[in-house]
Amino acid sequence: MSSTSDLLPPASSETSGAAKTGFDALGLLPELLRAVADEGYTEPTPIQVKAIPPILQRRDVMGCAQTGTGKTAGFALPLLQFLAPQANTSLSPARHPVRVLVLTPTRELAAQVEESFRAYSKHLPLRSAVVFGGVDIGPQMKQLHAGVEILVATPGRLLDHLHQKSVNLSRVEFLVLDEADRMLDMGFIPDIKRILAALPAKRQNLLFSATFPEEVRRLAKDLLHAPVTVEVAPRNAPAELVSHQVHLVDLTRKRALLCHLIRSRDMRQVLVFVRMKRDANRLARQLKQDGIVAKEIHSDRTQVERMQALEEFKQGKVPVLVATDIAARGLDIEQLPFVINYELPHTPEDYVHRIGRTGRAGLPGEAISLVSPEEMKFLDDIERLLKRKLPRAAAADVKPESRHAQRGREAKRDHKPARHHAHAPRPQPAAAPSPPPSPSGFDYSKPYEPAPSQRPAQSEPLAAPRRGPHRPTAALLGGDPAKRHK
Ligand code: AMP
Repeated sequence: MSSTSDLLPPASSETSGAAKTGFDALGLLPELLRAVADEGYTEPTPIQVKAIPPILQRRDVMGCAQTGTGKTAGFALPLLQFLAPQANTSLSPARHPVRVLVLTPTRELAAQVEESFRAYSKHLPLRSAVVFGGVDIGPQMKQLHAGVEILVATPGRLLDHLHQKSVNLSRVEFLVLDEADRMLDMGFIPDIKRILAALPAKRQNLLFSATFPEEVRRLAKDLLHAPVTVEVAPRNAPAELVSHQVHLVDLTRKRALLCHLIRSRDMRQVLVFVRMKRDANRLARQLKQDGIVAKEIHSDRTQVERMQALEEFKQGKVPVLVATDIAARGLDIEQLPFVINYELPHTPEDYVHRIGRTGRAGLPGEAISLVSPEEMKFLDDIERLLKRKLPRAAAADVKPESRHAQRGREAKRDHKPARHHAHAPRPQPAAAPSPPPSPSGFDYSKPYEPAPSQRPAQSEPLAAPRRGPHRPTAALLGGDPAKRHK
């Protein structure tokens, strides 16, 4: 079992120690500063402060950061700065060779990264494209033939393009491996090595990963030359943004507890994790039978289906998205208030990835885990990784809602447009003690957290209104499950 410190990159003799500063002080081009301002960013995130200067100095960078920290802009902005001098509006494909290649493990992340590049380069005549499997290759080929400076790709589809000679990577100057640990989990390392063979030897390499298992370190060692290591240091935040809660529950009672939590907490946007694709299908189906609108997202669904489910979820049309770890990887859902682990992941690092979906952009989020006696071992692993015991929901803490509250909720929902969900009252983080910082100071339980001045003003109370009177969950679920655990 690895500890948090094992997951961090080896201590670098050379870590970038840039002080907190505004975007202006990073030496970025006016076109990029304008794009950043258009996005509404006022201050760079910690990973941006740390990564942008060494990248601009043409150093290889090993970044320890998960999605949600603002790492995409951390590498996209300096790379765009390098591309800017040769940006042009020529129609000739020869004037638009692929110079930046970004590899990502999932289609969703690839799409999001390319979207970010497009947003940050909107004031420059640069072209970008995203290629991933599961969709027609024809339009991608057409786009590549026309020429693009920035290519974001998943490894399998990029290899298809290389075999079909629809892309030429001989002019790549900058390579980014995003979410390297997930690439490893998904078995992409051989594909990546094949792609590396098609690239010029002389190039700048950037590798980002939330965790650093041994194989990722080995890959980093082969790929990066004298890298600068950057990692997200915790901010001096008074409260944890993600609160964790564990419900000890028998396997057979999970479905009832999930429905109860969704209803009694009036959850309007919740990402529910299961381990296997078939479980995602089954649970989404069961939720629908229970009268809860839900969709599933996993790698067996077509890209169009996945994108559609995600879009409906983002818009608040579908309140529950049931996902597998792989499908949810890299999802950027603004202000996601709840993540529920219907099943615990078998690798504790996946817990970190899962909870990274909430508590983003400075707003609090809740990570709720339904843990059966069979899963206690995985809970132990997670707690060891996080170096803390996760708070158990006391049976009396979770209460079924009264009929009156239920009717009120339904009436309220009928009258509230879905778009308001983003502003729904958000849960107050439980008063759990802050975890001790890891030896490196990196706190895995805490995604990017802006300074208090950057947080949007809360126009509504944070705490969900209490409902009462209540019966304890134990009564609802037929006994106190805690007694059967451990
Ligand atoms: P990423 O970790 O790159 O997926 O970014 C997570 C989210 O943070 C995205 O929605 C970005 O648009 C947003 N973001 C990135 N940089 C900043 C910033 N400096 N200020 C505010 N939001 C940001």
